[in-house]
Amino acid sequence: MTQPHLPRRIVIAGGGTAGWMTAAAIARTLGPVAQVTLIESDQIGTIGVGESTIPPLVAYNRILGIDEAAFMRATQATFKLGINFENWRVAGESYFHSFGGTGKDHWSAGFQHFWLHGRDQGMAHAYGDYCLELKAAEAGRFAHLPDDRTNYAYQLDSALYARFLRGMAESDGTVRVEGRIAHVELDSETGDIAALLLEGDRRIEGDLFIDCTGFRALLIEGALHAGYDDWTHWLPCDGAVAIQTASVRPPVPYTRAIAHEAGWQWRIPLQHRQGNGIVYCSAFMEPDAALERLLATIEGEALVRPNPIRFQTGARRRQWHRNCVAVGLSAGFLEPLESTSIHLIQRAVLRILRMLPAGPVSVRDIDEFNDQQMTDMVQIRDFLILHYKVTDRRDSPFWRHCAAMAVPDSLTHRLALFRETGRVFRKNEELFAENSWVQVMMGQGILPQSYHPVAAKLRPEELAHLLQSLRDQVARTVDAMPSHADYIARYCNAQ
Ligand code: FAD
Repeated sequence: MTQPHLPRRIVIAGGGTAGWMTAAAIARTLGPVAQVTLIESDQIGTIGVGESTIPPLVAYNRILGIDEAAFMRATQATFKLGINFENWRVAGESYFHSFGGTGKDHWSAGFQHFWLHGRDQGMAHAYGDYCLELKAAEAGRFAHLPDDRTNYAYQLDSALYARFLRGMAESDGTVRVEGRIAHVELDSETGDIAALLLEGDRRIEGDLFIDCTGFRALLIEGALHAGYDDWTHWLPCDGAVAIQTASVRPPVPYTRAIAHEAGWQWRIPLQHRQGNGIVYCSAFMEPDAALERLLATIEGEALVRPNPIRFQTGARRRQWHRNCVAVGLSAGFLEPLESTSIHLIQRAVLRILRMLPAGPVSVRDIDEFNDQQMTDMVQIRDFLILHYKVTDRRDSPFWRHCAAMAVPDSLTHRLALFRETGRVFRKNEELFAENSWVQVMMGQGILPQSYHPVAAKLRPEELAHLLQSLRDQVARTVDAMPSHADYIARYCNAQ
């Protein structure tokens, strides 16, 4: 049997959110078994965006033993119950993609089937009325409920999150090296990475290298040429400008995604400020026009200069290649619409830990890792494309382009199945579960033509009672919750 022979010297290149999330998790999980070194350059800095997250981050922090209130104080975090999509189906309308479930599923058919039947009978209210998180978000309320019944995430300052994790990682033994990586040295025999050469003649050797250098992808692409799948033809936005402003009202427990004629804008309320940004497609909007639009629509005093960013949506073809794993923006970017990037970092880090080789790195481990990461990205990609493709907007060249564009077969099939039958299936531990797909597909304008016959099994009075009691229960629970701002103030300051 192979004796455990961990890659003891783990070198992380880059100290943005990805770098420190990786260092903190590895150092805490492996302890003295691994020697973690992180190299970052203050001169280069980080991307400076990334504020909205999704519920699995709660579990990630718990795995690392992080105290939630301390984390929220340190990162100025607020709670997030979902995203309000404004102007996406048509200008002037909005819908929620909230966390958690809606109504009550039957094992054979999701709640949407019962709701559709109730709608036909004239006894169903808005679909969202049966979702606790959605109604709490709309009401600006929040509370942790017993048995973890509230599904939530955070809106946070990711630079502060990285700083918080750095403290943890360093106290767990990670060594931080300040410096600029000038060259990646390859082993002339194996082609693996042997060492990183820093300006000033420093040389850092390692067994496993984790590329967290952001869009630069210095190791995985610059040195190892792992390749990149460009998805711009499906996710055409390629530019963004971010700016932070002073808060003008108490923070709401949700992120706003507001479509405009060539992309969308975000608003993310934190405790101490608001994050704002515009995402646009440069084929349909000039960068100057995007900036102008952003500045014209922000509320509150600007706290920093606008931060312009260009990107190419897509995925690194091999995210683990030789003795190097890409984590974060170096592994690809799907644009920030559903706040999935920090989540993809988390998935990659946990996978690295699950698949740490016990001997020399196995090609099978690498293939498995790459397959799982790519599956995640493809599934998220399809979910994002849905927001652009399924729309009644035809009021600008950008939206006409999106409505006409070809989409992946996997998405075409899903949309057709839902349209015809009301059915949607979660595949292979997919991130976005049935209720996410249902909310967004209906929000974007698909109303299924039929539904599962089991819904008609209930007599009209039984169905009416079911719908009414579910709705009442949601309303009662939300009414008993405090305001989001009050809850944060109490929760974060309770010692
Ligand atoms: P970076 O932050 O760019 O860090 C790269 C690191 O590498 C830095 O420390 C840098 O100094 C270092 N480095 C680079 N080159 C060298 C070198 N030669 N030598 C030494 N060090 C080097 N994600 C979400 O989950 N939610 C969001 O709401 C969200 N919004 C976003 C909005 C936009 C417009 C964009 C572009 C991204 C958004 N993201 C979001 C993604 C999120 O910002 C990133 O996933 C996250 O910040 C991780 O970035 P990173 O650590 O991979 O890269």
